Amino acid sequence: MNSIAVIGAGTMGRGIAQVAAVAGYAVILYDITPELTAAGQEAIFQLIDKGVARGKITAETAVHARAHFTTTTELAQCATADLVIEGAPERLDLKRDIFRQLDELAPAHTILASNTSSLSIHALAGATNRPTQVVGLHFFNPAHLMALVEVIPTGNTSAETLTAVQEVIQRMGKTAVLCQDTPGFIVNRVARPFYGEAFRVVGEGQADVATVDKLMRSLGFRMGPFELIDLIGCDVNFAVTQSVYHAYFEDPKYRPHPLQQRMVESGRLGRKTGRGFYGY
Ligand code: NAD
Repeated sequence: MNSIAVIGAGTMGRGIAQVAAVAGYAVILYDITPELTAAGQEAIFQLIDKGVARGKITAETAVHARAHFTTTTELAQCATADLVIEGAPERLDLKRDIFRQLDELAPAHTILASNTSSLSIHALAGATNRPTQVVGLHFFNPAHLMALVEVIPTGNTSAETLTAVQEVIQRMGKTAVLCQDTPGFIVNRVARPFYGEAFRVVGEGQADVATVDKLMRSLGFRMGPFELIDLIGCDVNFAVTQSVYHAYFEDPKYRPHPLQQRMVESGRLGRKTGRGFYGY
């Protein structure tokens, strides 16, 4: 395994591409416009420079990472990589279409992985003719700092594929946790009611956003639920909540809250738009 293509140069795609580059892989970063890939590359290079300044990344590693980093708006170029990690928006139709195209373009040995937070890996594998080489690789935000990666095989993922991706995760210095292909896997299944209850507390007027966050931090959490949603993106958080809710056949435990919808409708998506529950 020498090269990794990352589909989507957003929050997660950038983080995953940076981690892959620093781990020594040749990286191809894809997005739908050259402006998006350029912005992604710039952010990644800045993060690498910061890592060097802080002594976390050696100068040699940084030079190697930059020299083996390319961007593209052509899926065909991504299909030349040994492993493709998809980090496109959380929409099943869109992701299935990407998997279908990659399957047609890529040689037989290529492994196709998704960073989906909640969607069925079986449904993505079903869009391809290589179900043995499809797997979920769920990184966490910010990907360059978070150690955990959920690894999600389907009933058809081969042992060779699983071993290959676990080796990649190890080389990235991360911890792989094997999960079943159930909605939200482990972390997002547990996290949904955490966010949901916080929305209800605020929605019912029991406490405001800042108070809920402060309380959760006082209990030892690094961030409160609303600070975390601003980091994740309100749009991403809402999409994942809806996906898990429907995947569990409308179990009320996972029901989205109207406040989530209002945040998205008003364009207050969090840090990435400069305004969410807080201003940035
Ligand atoms: P994002 O909105 O920041 O980035 C998505 C990127 O995909 C954008 O750059 C967008 O231009 C690009 N894109 C749009 N249409 C595309 C297409 N047709 N093909 C390829 N790329 C396309 O989203 P994100 O937060 O990076 O989330 C991406 C994936 O990672 C989602 O599946 C999400 O559930 C998952 N995820 C997100 C987080 C998080 O905290 N944000 C954490 C773990 C996993």
